[in-house]
Amino acid sequence: MQAKKGIAILGSTGSIGTQALEVIEAHPDLFDLQVITAKQNSTLLIEQALKFKPNAVVIVDDSEYQKVKDALWSEEIHVYGGADALNQVVEFKEIEVVLTAMVGYAGLEPTMSAIRAKKNIALANKETLVVAGDVITKEAQKYGVNIYPVDSEHSAIFQCLAGEFHNTIEKIYLTASGGPFRGYSMAKLRSVTKEQALKHPNWEMGQKITIDSATMMNKGLEVIEAKWLFNLKPEQIDVIVHPQSIVHSIVQFDDGSMKAQMGLPDMKLPIQYSLTYPNRVASSFPRFNFLDYPSLNFEGVDQSVFTNLQLAYDCLHVGGTSACILNAANEVAVDAFLKERISFIDIQNINQEALQSIDPIANPTLETYLEVDLITRKKVTEIIGSIS
Ligand code: NAD
Ligand code: MG
Repeated sequence: MQAKKGIAILGSTGSIGTQALEVIEAHPDLFDLQVITAKQNSTLLIEQALKFKPNAVVIVDDSEYQKVKDALWSEEIHVYGGADALNQVVEFKEIEVVLTAMVGYAGLEPTMSAIRAKKNIALANKETLVVAGDVITKEAQKYGVNIYPVDSEHSAIFQCLAGEFHNTIEKIYLTASGGPFRGYSMAKLRSVTKEQALKHPNWEMGQKITIDSATMMNKGLEVIEAKWLFNLKPEQIDVIVHPQSIVHSIVQFDDGSMKAQMGLPDMKLPIQYSLTYPNRVASSFPRFNFLDYPSLNFEGVDQSVFTNLQLAYDCLHVGGTSACILNAANEVAVDAFLKERISFIDIQNINQEALQSIDPIANPTLETYLEVDLITRKKVTEIIGSIS
């Protein structure tokens, strides 16, 4: 019998994390859950730990540590507190794949630690690749580590490329649902509310990515993510709006042939594929029925309204720390929007202002990124202070 695959889930209490646990629960013969982690939600983390009995749990928020420790005292489960512990638990020798399902820039250092410990990465935490794609892909190569995409579009591209890795990609099309404000004019976008922005038409996700989907920043981050995962030039990456979210993305090869990956929008499938690659394993996920979708539609993105997408392409052309600046600005702006300190349209304007007012640095190291992230957060906090 084949040994079970040791898995760590960073961010097990989130949308991706909880769905990953469903996948693991459905295949006890394949997976051995070693580590789960959360930022604050100690109640759910405890519940997950009691159910799955991992080797270790990490609660990042120190003030929740004692509660987790007390709840798990009688179990053979190591309990750690604080962000630094994430860097240590990913090194456990029993772990083969680290699923990065935490949100935002905070994923960067643990992901680097996992790569340096020679763990394959199932990557949901796209912000990490956006910020430091060159350093991460170089380190992954150096340590012989594979990065398996979890993001549905990138998983689709990855699935289309199976058996084709020696063939030349002419271009890829990343599909976008268009979010809740598809077709809106700039004037209409000015008055949208937080509640409207948090209602995604096709996907149930964490708050940050839901707002990113509404502003189209998510697609911009995905364009940058695709560059690093598949080693593409900006001209090779196109975005097409597809409101039904059935075609998850498309590869066009240099003979003109196009391959698409399709299915109902359900993150469990790309999560499972990232953990079982190169194999597919049977699932009971709901199946697609053509008669429920008599037509699938495609349209362009209005970049004059949704300016975040163009900002992402600009960052690809400029290179260096520019995408790090964009990501940090966006994280701070989205947080301020969620706290109702700025308007929806302010998010993209702030992103643009940050890119205009902070000079990018060429050939950055990991330390440069950490510094630029901090500088950008400070600058954007000032901008927000001046408008709210
Ligand atoms: P979420 O907000 O639902 O969950 C985030 C998880 O990360 C939680 O477990 C939380 O405790 C943890 N976390 C948050 N901040 C942290 C920090 N500072 N340090 C350590 N842990 C922290 O988010 P999500 O929707 O599951 O998204 C997770 C990642 O996956 C994001 O990068 C997102 O862009 C990406 N992604 C999500 C989806 C989706 O369907 N939800 C799809 C594609 C990609
Ligand atoms: Mg996606």
